[in-house]
Amino acid sequence: PRLANQIAAGEVVERPSSVVKELIENSIDAGATRIDIDIEKGGAKLIRIRDNGSGVEKDQLGLALSRHATSKLATLDDLEAIDSLGFRGEALASISSVSRLTFTSRTKAQTEAWQAYAEGRDMQVKIKPAAHPIGTTVEVVDLFFNTPARRKFLRTDKTEFNHIDELVKRIALSRFDLQVTLKHNGKVIRSYRPASTVEQQERRVASITSTNFMANCMALDCEHSDIKLWGWIGLPHDNAPMDVQYSYVNGRMMRDKLINHALRQAYEEATGIAAQPAYVLFIEVSVREVDVNVHPAKHEVRFHQARLVHDFIFQGVFKAITEGIS
Ligand code: ADP
Ligand code: MG
Repeated sequence: PRLANQIAAGEVVERPSSVVKELIENSIDAGATRIDIDIEKGGAKLIRIRDNGSGVEKDQLGLALSRHATSKLATLDDLEAIDSLGFRGEALASISSVSRLTFTSRTKAQTEAWQAYAEGRDMQVKIKPAAHPIGTTVEVVDLFFNTPARRKFLRTDKTEFNHIDELVKRIALSRFDLQVTLKHNGKVIRSYRPASTVEQQERRVASITSTNFMANCMALDCEHSDIKLWGWIGLPHDNAPMDVQYSYVNGRMMRDKLINHALRQAYEEATGIAAQPAYVLFIEVSVREVDVNVHPAKHEVRFHQARLVHDFIFQGVFKAITEGIS
């Protein structure tokens, strides 16, 4: 409980795409290399995520669904060096409290799978045998069925699905080795095969962003003691895409002011154009150098050495753009 109290509680379930985000992050944390996502009616009817990760032991299933139960932090000290996407232990409990959630899982050590679901007002976790390969399937049915006010805030199926699609794109960019399929109402909408070579990676980037972006960008890859920056930065171009803005810190998608500022400044100084460039960029830095426990949705970070990180990004991007336009 002491550890749990250190972790600020927050609201994680805003709409179907936030559920999908939490579930996919759990699959990635479980070491999955393949994730299959099934959506019905924009996620309001069904969100089903199946992975081939480690699974959860039968006797841990109840814990997985309870609030502030995380298997990812053992000590308070771990909070200073988070290397998993999840760590608050509240996503499954929150989602399960506003939907009909079942969690079906099998570990390598088990010959049988088990299904857990929470029932009744007190959310008592029940467990029954099930059929499932090694890995986990989480099924979220009738999201917000018991919170009509929030259900009312859902937009059209199409809009909600578009949010999910955009999220899946972001995830597919964050992990090139991941195989991902996304279906809506039974129809395959996206299918990403594992991309290991640079060509395969660039093909994935092009299919997610646009061929236009890929044809007018510079690849960059630079490193300085504890920090690494790599990816692709858009060059000035008549039809430069406005919506290609993907940045990741240690595999975590970010909307970060410091990163944006460094990029914009580098682009402006290199090109004379005051605009936000298009980019797909990955920053890798020691987990002890960043604090990810800033926001419940975990899309902001705090760099301990903010100035250094800013200047490093600025220089790397400035150099790449200057080379690209000369
Ligand atoms: P957190 O990710 O912050 O630990 P969650 O509520 O998202 O909290 O998940 C609770 C726990 O359930 C995780 O710590 C993990 O042990 C287990 N878990 C959830 N999803 C999966 C999955 N797909 N595969 C294996 N374990 C999982
Ligand atoms: Mg989680």
